[in-house]
Amino acid sequence: LSKRIENFTDSVIRRMTRIANSHGAINLSQGFPDFDPPSELKNALEKVASGSIHQYAVTWGAKNFREALAKEQSKFMGIPIDPQTQIVVTCGSTEAMMAAMMTVCNPQDKVVVFSPFYENYAADAILSGAEPIYVHLRPPEFKFDVNELEEAFKQGPKALILCNPSNPTGKVFTLEELQTIAYFAKKYDTFVITDEVYEHIVYDPYQHIYFASLPGMFERTISCSSLSKTYSITGWRLGYLIAPSHIIDGARKVHDFLTVGAAAPLQEAAVVALNFGDDYYEELKRSYIDKRDFFIKGLDKLGLKYTVPQGAYYVMVDISEFACESDLEFCEWMAKEVGVAAVPGSSFFKDNVNHLIRFHFAKKKETLEEALKRLEKLK
Ligand code: GLN
Repeated sequence: LSKRIENFTDSVIRRMTRIANSHGAINLSQGFPDFDPPSELKNALEKVASGSIHQYAVTWGAKNFREALAKEQSKFMGIPIDPQTQIVVTCGSTEAMMAAMMTVCNPQDKVVVFSPFYENYAADAILSGAEPIYVHLRPPEFKFDVNELEEAFKQGPKALILCNPSNPTGKVFTLEELQTIAYFAKKYDTFVITDEVYEHIVYDPYQHIYFASLPGMFERTISCSSLSKTYSITGWRLGYLIAPSHIIDGARKVHDFLTVGAAAPLQEAAVVALNFGDDYYEELKRSYIDKRDFFIKGLDKLGLKYTVPQGAYYVMVDISEFACESDLEFCEWMAKEVGVAAVPGSSFFKDNVNHLIRFHFAKKKETLEEALKRLEKLK
């Protein structure tokens, strides 16, 4: 087997889902909803299923899907996006991120990754032959140190990975922080690869700012996102990358040979979602504010310490008060004995940090209620 696979483990997030399933635990580990997508979307899929779109779409995405997406993202990002030349539709943002890295990185190139980070980024870097340089986001506020960031840029990285709103921390980067990153990206001539899958899950008063919308940044940004979280369709695997056409030309080649394309019938059905209109996003935000508030109130009642998420649907909880060997052991014990699964925080950090665990709250109220009831065992 190849040397490259020795350098990363299997996904702890996905492993925790298997552990949750084996114990019948409520799965607050891998972040995906336990509620259905909007019924219009399910109906659209049913209609497509009985129609005639069952063969490959154009490799970089079905035309009408790209057009609907370009219209929507131009509006949100505040940048005109050309559906013909500036989009590749991928199998989830997981593929988009991988394709983005393979498009810009040569073997031995360096890539700046904020730690804690969504676990795919390190594996993506390694798979594309690049080497991650980590910059700390320090708990509990998860801010970065400007000098540390510049030191990383001084090493001549090819790209910086920016997950905003951030998984696992729930941090929403401020305009000032983004401007600092933009300043260095320009000064050191670096690409920025974003993961913005939680773009519509942001809690007042925080606001999501698209990195590509900052002055001069579109040219060096590969914006990755997906429909998974926004429309509660993680299983449809519909993601995309948006970038200037000369980068997209390269990304299309990578994508074509990786996967040929995202599922054509699902792209067709998803056009309906892209036309929902602005009220949909307001309602989505409201429903997640409710979930967040309900869940963190429950954590308060349990006396647990955590960082209030500003965006995304995760919360990092401090488990220092529990005597346990490791966060992994704690999570395994909790799945088995308490009946609730979370992700050990250590899988997101470069350093040896094992006093945090990550819960997600993209669940029905009754699921969260039951999880909180079970968590009373921790008291
Ligand atoms: N983003 C989700 C999480 O962090 C899971 C994504 C996945 O497993 N592909 O839990």
